[in-house]
Amino acid sequence: MALTPVLVAAQTAPRPDADPRIEKIAAAVSEERLKSLLEKLVSFGTRNTLSDQTSPTYGIGAARSWILEELRRSSEKLRVSFDTHQIAQQGRITRDVDLRNVMAVLPGRSPRRIYVSGHYDTVNIGGQNVSNSSAPGAAAAGGDRQTRAGFDPNVEANGANDDGSGTVLTMELARVFAESGVQFDATLVFIAWAGEEQGLVGSNVHAEDLRKANVAVEAMFNNDIVGNSLGGNGIRDAESIKVYAVGPEDSPARALARHIRKVAGIYVPSHRVRLMAREDRFGRGSDQSSFSQNGFPAIVFREANENFERQHGANDRIDGVDFGYLAQNARVNAAGVAALALAPPAPKVTNDRGGNMLSRDPSGYDATMRWNASPGAAAYRVYWRDTWTNDWEHAQTIGNVSQFTLKNVNIDDFVFGVSAIGVDGQESMVSSYVSPVRAGTTIKRAQ
Ligand SMILES: [Zn+2]
Repeated sequence: MALTPVLVAAQTAPRPDADPRIEKIAAAVSEERLKSLLEKLVSFGTRNTLSDQTSPTYGIGAARSWILEELRRSSEKLRVSFDTHQIAQQGRITRDVDLRNVMAVLPGRSPRRIYVSGHYDTVNIGGQNVSNSSAPGAAAAGGDRQTRAGFDPNVEANGANDDGSGTVLTMELARVFAESGVQFDATLVFIAWAGEEQGLVGSNVHAEDLRKANVAVEAMFNNDIVGNSLGGNGIRDAESIKVYAVGPEDSPARALARHIRKVAGIYVPSHRVRLMAREDRFGRGSDQSSFSQNGFPAIVFREANENFERQHGANDRIDGVDFGYLAQNARVNAAGVAALALAPPAPKVTNDRGGNMLSRDPSGYDATMRWNASPGAAAYRVYWRDTWTNDWEHAQTIGNVSQFTLKNVNIDDFVFGVSAIGVDGQESMVSSYVSPVRAGTTIKRAQ
């Protein structure tokens, strides 16, 4: 077998393909601006989706108006708008509500979209650790505090870290990308969600609309609780960030996670990206799931070591945010987004009937990968690995072709993938050839 092992870029590897445009974008992230944005954001007292919408200074109405205006002020190149939905009373939405996500679009050469997000809404249920009654399915154990009579959405809920941190990260990246002067191939969407704390409501309706309209969403970078470096256990970790990616092993979310770790290793080498092979933290969730459930590749960034005592209570204040750490997390996002937005789209490796284009041709004992050409690709890179492994083990860069054969490599024994590489060296995510799961059958038994 001709399995030449080629090292797949590890995070500790030298910086092979650093693109000065991406270096500049990562360097433009401003710790000071993150801080001034968050100071203003927490000044609205609460951003509960069911809080006051009419006061000019207090509640979610004032907060969303300020986010909209601030995005407009940050760059003329951004197309800024409310993404407004009328939501009926249901679950933790205890009355009909006018819900508004705030979005800023930076048009690219192509309509394919990359999302960056955080949720700007907040909640105060007296603290995440008071009991588990806010956890999904735990209603029997004392009830959901948000649906109890007397629950007040107007009490103080600063949400500095949850998720003011993800919100200002998203706002800062909108400015940095729009003012970079770089023309991206992908269209970038920076969005601050509402209704997350009532069950991912704002992202759910938005992602459903995207699916119904057949919008090509290539990736969604969600950020939820990414600004605190001092865990509730007293351990500080300001040098790493976690990325949760829903499976199975070769899901689009996992391909996105691997891309982020690779690129972060090039552009933010002092910050470690820890990949988590699960949808989110245990028993908790966020807006990336709205995208996954609608068929889009989506991951969530989470700080390395959380302080659960300072979530979902009045004490989630700005003194719990480490802006140097938040800025590093923003740079990891920036590098991951920029590299994808400059690269061609990932190759399509399935045919019109949904079957994957991997065969034993030509001998019957070889591995031949076929794919549809990606617009803008100048070359491709094929990958393969043992079926029991998560990370690619072998890679080979090839020319501008649409098939490749590995002689005497048994397709049963390896996972295969292919990426597209643009003229300036930027690489897409890797598309995997996934073995279909066999449908069940019902066997007739003799009487
Ligand atoms: Zn959150």
